[in-house]
Amino acid sequence: MIVLKSAREIDCIRRGGHILAEVMDLLREFVRPGMSTLEIDEEVESFLARCGATPAFKGYRGFPATVCISINDEVVHGIPSAHRWIKEGDIVGLDLGCIVNGYYADCAFTLPVGEVPSSVQRLLDVTRESLELAIGECRSGRRLSDVSHAVQAHVEAHGFSVVRAFVGHGIGRALHEEPQVPNFGEPGRGPQLRSGMVLAIEPMVTMGSWEVRILDDGWTAVTRDGSLAAHFEHTIAVTEGGPEVLTSKNWQSARVA
Ligand code: MG
Repeated sequence: MIVLKSAREIDCIRRGGHILAEVMDLLREFVRPGMSTLEIDEEVESFLARCGATPAFKGYRGFPATVCISINDEVVHGIPSAHRWIKEGDIVGLDLGCIVNGYYADCAFTLPVGEVPSSVQRLLDVTRESLELAIGECRSGRRLSDVSHAVQAHVEAHGFSVVRAFVGHGIGRALHEEPQVPNFGEPGRGPQLRSGMVLAIEPMVTMGSWEVRILDDGWTAVTRDGSLAAHFEHTIAVTEGGPEVLTSKNWQSARVA
Protein backbone atom coordinates (compact mmCIF):
# COMPACT_ATOMS: atom_id res chain seq x y z
CA MET A 1 0.00 0.00 0.00
CA ILE A 2 1.28 3.47 -0.86
CA VAL A 3 0.82 5.77 2.14
CA LEU A 4 -0.19 9.33 1.22
CA LYS A 5 1.31 11.99 3.49
CA SER A 6 -0.45 15.01 4.97
CA ALA A 7 1.03 18.50 4.72
CA ARG A 8 2.18 18.12 8.34
CA GLU A 9 3.94 14.86 7.58
CA ILE A 10 5.59 16.30 4.48
CA ASP A 11 6.80 19.18 6.63
CA CYS A 12 8.50 16.71 8.98
CA ILE A 13 10.25 15.05 6.02
CA ARG A 14 11.21 18.48 4.66
CA ARG A 15 12.84 19.43 7.96
CA GLY A 16 15.03 16.32 7.81
CA GLY A 17 15.61 16.88 4.11
CA HIS A 18 16.84 20.42 4.63
CA ILE A 19 19.28 19.19 7.26
CA LEU A 20 20.59 16.66 4.71
CA ALA A 21 20.91 19.48 2.14
CA GLU A 22 23.18 21.26 4.62
CA VAL A 23 25.19 18.07 5.09
CA MET A 24 25.70 17.81 1.33
CA ASP A 25 26.97 21.41 1.23
CA LEU A 26 29.28 20.68 4.16
CA LEU A 27 30.70 17.56 2.51
CA ARG A 28 31.49 19.37 -0.75
CA GLU A 29 33.93 21.47 1.28
CA PHE A 30 34.99 18.84 3.80
CA VAL A 31 35.98 15.83 1.69
CA ARG A 32 39.68 16.01 0.82
CA PRO A 33 42.38 13.59 -0.36
CA GLY A 34 44.12 11.83 2.53
CA MET A 35 41.19 11.68 4.91
CA SER A 36 39.64 8.38 5.90
CA THR A 37 36.03 7.54 5.13
CA LEU A 38 35.50 7.13 8.89
CA GLU A 39 36.44 10.81 9.42
CA ILE A 40 33.66 11.75 6.97
CA ASP A 41 31.21 9.53 8.82
CA GLU A 42 32.09 11.04 12.19
CA GLU A 43 31.74 14.58 10.84
CA VAL A 44 28.25 13.84 9.53
CA GLU A 45 27.16 12.05 12.68
CA SER A 46 28.17 14.98 14.89
CA PHE A 47 26.52 17.48 12.51
CA LEU A 48 23.24 15.54 12.60
CA ALA A 49 23.41 15.39 16.40
CA ARG A 50 23.87 19.18 16.56
CA CYS A 51 20.75 19.53 14.37
CA GLY A 52 18.72 17.18 16.57
CA ALA A 53 18.42 14.57 13.78
CA THR A 54 18.98 10.83 14.16
CA PRO A 55 21.08 8.92 11.60
CA ALA A 56 18.75 6.75 9.53
CA PHE A 57 21.17 4.08 8.35
CA LYS A 58 23.13 3.35 11.54
CA GLY A 59 21.78 0.07 12.86
CA TYR A 60 19.44 -0.39 9.89
CA ARG A 61 19.61 -4.15 9.30
CA GLY A 62 22.94 -3.97 11.14
CA PHE A 63 24.60 -1.29 8.97
CA PRO A 64 27.36 0.04 11.26
CA ALA A 65 27.67 3.69 10.19
CA THR A 66 25.86 6.98 9.55
CA VAL A 67 26.85 7.49 5.89
CA CYS A 68 27.18 4.95 3.09
CA ILE A 69 30.44 5.89 1.35
CA SER A 70 31.04 4.16 -1.99
CA ILE A 71 34.21 4.96 -3.95
CA ASN A 72 34.83 4.49 -7.69
CA ASP A 73 33.55 1.01 -8.71
CA GLU A 74 31.53 0.76 -5.49
CA VAL A 75 27.92 1.47 -6.38
CA VAL A 76 26.20 1.79 -2.99
CA HIS A 77 26.37 0.73 0.70
CA GLY A 78 30.12 1.16 1.23
CA ILE A 79 31.04 1.01 4.93
CA PRO A 80 33.17 3.86 6.34
CA SER A 81 36.54 2.74 7.68
CA ALA A 82 39.57 4.22 9.44
CA HIS A 83 41.70 2.31 6.90
CA ARG A 84 40.08 3.56 3.70
CA TRP A 85 41.48 6.86 2.45
CA ILE A 86 40.17 9.29 -0.14
CA LYS A 87 42.55 9.85 -3.08
CA GLU A 88 42.82 12.62 -5.63
CA GLY A 89 40.75 11.64 -8.68
CA ASP A 90 38.32 9.41 -6.77
CA ILE A 91 34.58 9.70 -7.23
CA VAL A 92 32.95 9.35 -3.83
CA GLY A 93 29.29 8.38 -3.46
CA LEU A 94 27.82 9.78 -0.23
CA ASP A 95 24.41 8.42 0.75
CA LEU A 96 22.78 10.21 3.67
CA GLY A 97 19.65 9.59 5.71
CA CYS A 98 18.17 11.06 8.87
CA ILE A 99 15.07 10.91 11.03
CA VAL A 100 13.31 14.00 12.37
CA ASN A 101 10.09 13.69 14.42
CA GLY A 102 9.80 10.05 13.36
CA TYR A 103 10.04 10.77 9.61
CA TYR A 104 12.86 9.73 7.30
CA ALA A 105 14.63 11.71 4.58
CA ASP A 106 17.16 10.18 2.18
CA CYS A 107 19.53 11.62 -0.42
CA ALA A 108 22.84 10.89 -2.13
CA PHE A 109 25.36 12.47 -4.45
CA THR A 110 28.66 11.50 -6.02
CA LEU A 111 31.52 13.90 -5.47
CA PRO A 112 34.60 14.13 -7.69
CA VAL A 113 37.73 14.67 -5.59
CA GLY A 114 40.03 17.10 -7.38
CA GLU A 115 40.41 16.62 -11.11
CA VAL A 116 38.64 13.74 -12.84
CA PRO A 117 38.71 12.92 -16.58
CA SER A 118 35.95 14.52 -18.65
CA SER A 119 34.46 11.08 -19.35
CA VAL A 120 34.04 10.55 -15.60
CA GLN A 121 32.55 14.00 -15.10
CA ARG A 122 30.11 13.08 -17.88
CA LEU A 123 29.03 10.00 -15.90
CA LEU A 124 28.29 12.22 -12.89
CA ASP A 125 26.48 14.84 -14.98
CA VAL A 126 24.32 12.30 -16.83
CA THR A 127 23.35 10.53 -13.60
CA ARG A 128 22.37 13.81 -11.95
CA GLU A 129 20.46 14.90 -15.06
CA SER A 130 18.60 11.57 -15.12
CA LEU A 131 17.48 12.25 -11.54
CA GLU A 132 16.31 15.74 -12.50
CA LEU A 133 14.34 14.36 -15.45
CA ALA A 134 12.79 11.70 -13.20
CA ILE A 135 11.80 14.37 -10.68
CA GLY A 136 10.10 16.25 -13.50
CA GLU A 137 7.81 13.24 -13.96
CA CYS A 138 6.67 13.32 -10.32
CA ARG A 139 3.30 14.89 -11.04
CA SER A 140 -0.28 13.88 -10.26
CA GLY A 141 -1.62 11.65 -13.02
CA ARG A 142 1.73 10.39 -14.29
CA ARG A 143 2.45 6.69 -13.82
CA LEU A 144 5.22 5.36 -11.64
CA SER A 145 7.13 3.84 -14.55
CA ASP A 146 7.22 7.24 -16.28
CA VAL A 147 9.73 8.14 -13.53
CA SER A 148 11.70 4.95 -14.12
CA HIS A 149 11.72 5.38 -17.88
CA ALA A 150 12.97 8.96 -17.67
CA VAL A 151 16.12 7.72 -15.92
CA GLN A 152 16.78 4.82 -18.26
CA ALA A 153 16.17 6.76 -21.47
CA HIS A 154 18.60 9.54 -20.53
CA VAL A 155 21.30 7.24 -19.18
CA GLU A 156 21.29 4.84 -22.11
CA ALA A 157 21.18 7.67 -24.65
CA HIS A 158 24.61 8.63 -23.28
CA GLY A 159 26.01 5.10 -23.44
CA PHE A 160 25.90 4.35 -19.73
CA SER A 161 24.06 1.54 -17.89
CA VAL A 162 21.36 1.54 -15.20
CA VAL A 163 21.89 -0.75 -12.20
CA ARG A 164 18.94 -3.14 -11.78
CA ALA A 165 19.68 -4.67 -8.36
CA PHE A 166 18.75 -1.59 -6.33
CA VAL A 167 15.77 0.73 -6.69
CA GLY A 168 14.25 3.87 -5.21
CA HIS A 169 11.37 3.69 -2.76
CA GLY A 170 8.53 5.35 -0.97
CA ILE A 171 9.64 7.00 2.28
CA GLY A 172 7.98 8.40 5.39
CA ARG A 173 7.59 6.73 8.78
CA ALA A 174 9.80 3.98 7.38
CA LEU A 175 13.00 4.32 5.37
CA HIS A 176 11.70 1.96 2.71
CA GLU A 177 7.99 2.08 1.94
CA GLU A 178 5.99 1.09 -1.09
CA PRO A 179 6.26 1.61 -3.97
CA GLN A 180 9.60 0.43 -5.26
CA VAL A 181 10.90 2.90 -7.87
CA PRO A 182 13.07 1.12 -10.45
CA ASN A 183 15.40 3.18 -12.62
CA PHE A 184 14.38 1.30 -15.77
CA GLY A 185 11.23 0.21 -17.54
CA GLU A 186 8.64 1.07 -20.16
CA PRO A 187 6.65 4.26 -19.55
CA GLY A 188 2.93 4.35 -18.69
CA ARG A 189 2.83 1.47 -16.21
CA GLY A 190 2.28 1.02 -12.49
CA PRO A 191 0.25 3.12 -10.08
CA GLN A 192 -0.76 6.66 -10.89
CA LEU A 193 1.14 9.26 -8.92
CA ARG A 194 -0.97 11.30 -6.54
CA SER A 195 -0.50 14.38 -4.44
CA GLY A 196 0.84 13.33 -1.04
CA MET A 197 3.13 10.58 -2.32
CA VAL A 198 6.73 10.92 -1.15
CA LEU A 199 9.40 9.07 -3.11
CA ALA A 200 13.16 8.64 -2.81
CA ILE A 201 14.40 8.45 -6.39
CA GLU A 202 17.97 7.22 -6.76
CA PRO A 203 19.53 6.38 -10.12
CA MET A 204 22.66 4.23 -9.90
CA VAL A 205 24.59 4.35 -13.16
CA THR A 206 27.75 2.65 -14.41
CA MET A 207 30.20 3.27 -17.24
CA GLY A 208 30.18 -0.45 -18.12
CA SER A 209 27.77 -3.29 -17.45
CA TRP A 210 24.86 -2.89 -15.02
CA GLU A 211 25.72 -6.08 -13.13
CA VAL A 212 26.84 -5.79 -9.51
CA ARG A 213 28.12 -8.11 -6.81
CA ILE A 214 28.29 -7.80 -3.02
CA LEU A 215 31.67 -7.86 -1.26
CA ASP A 216 32.44 -10.18 1.65
CA ASP A 217 31.50 -7.45 4.15
CA GLY A 218 27.90 -8.27 3.24
CA TRP A 219 27.12 -4.66 2.27
CA THR A 220 29.32 -3.04 -0.35
CA ALA A 221 27.91 -3.40 -3.87
CA VAL A 222 30.53 -3.08 -6.62
CA THR A 223 30.27 -3.28 -10.40
CA ARG A 224 31.08 -6.78 -11.62
CA ASP A 225 33.28 -5.44 -14.40
CA GLY A 226 35.09 -2.91 -12.20
CA SER A 227 33.68 0.06 -14.10
CA LEU A 228 33.00 3.33 -12.27
CA ALA A 229 29.56 4.01 -10.83
CA ALA A 230 27.60 7.10 -9.79
CA HIS A 231 24.61 7.54 -7.48
CA PHE A 232 22.37 10.56 -6.98
CA GLU A 233 19.20 10.65 -4.87
CA HIS A 234 16.55 13.06 -3.67
CA THR A 235 13.41 12.69 -1.58
CA ILE A 236 10.49 14.20 -3.51
CA ALA A 237 6.90 15.03 -2.58
CA VAL A 238 4.24 14.94 -5.28
CA THR A 239 2.15 18.06 -4.62
CA GLU A 240 -0.69 19.91 -6.36
CA GLY A 241 1.89 22.39 -7.56
CA GLY A 242 4.21 19.71 -8.98
CA PRO A 243 7.23 17.97 -7.52
CA GLU A 244 8.92 19.42 -4.44
CA VAL A 245 12.45 18.27 -3.71
CA LEU A 246 12.45 17.93 0.06
CA THR A 247 16.21 17.33 0.27
CA SER A 248 17.13 20.65 -1.36
CA LYS A 249 16.74 24.18 -0.06
CA ASN A 250 16.95 25.97 -3.37
CA TRP A 251 15.23 23.72 -5.85
CA GLN A 252 14.30 25.72 -8.94
CA SER A 253 10.91 24.57 -10.17
CA ALA A 254 11.89 25.76 -13.65
CA ARG A 255 14.49 23.01 -13.80
CA VAL A 256 11.86 20.30 -13.55
CA ALA A 257 9.24 21.83 -15.84
MG1 MG B 1 17.32 5.57 -0.72
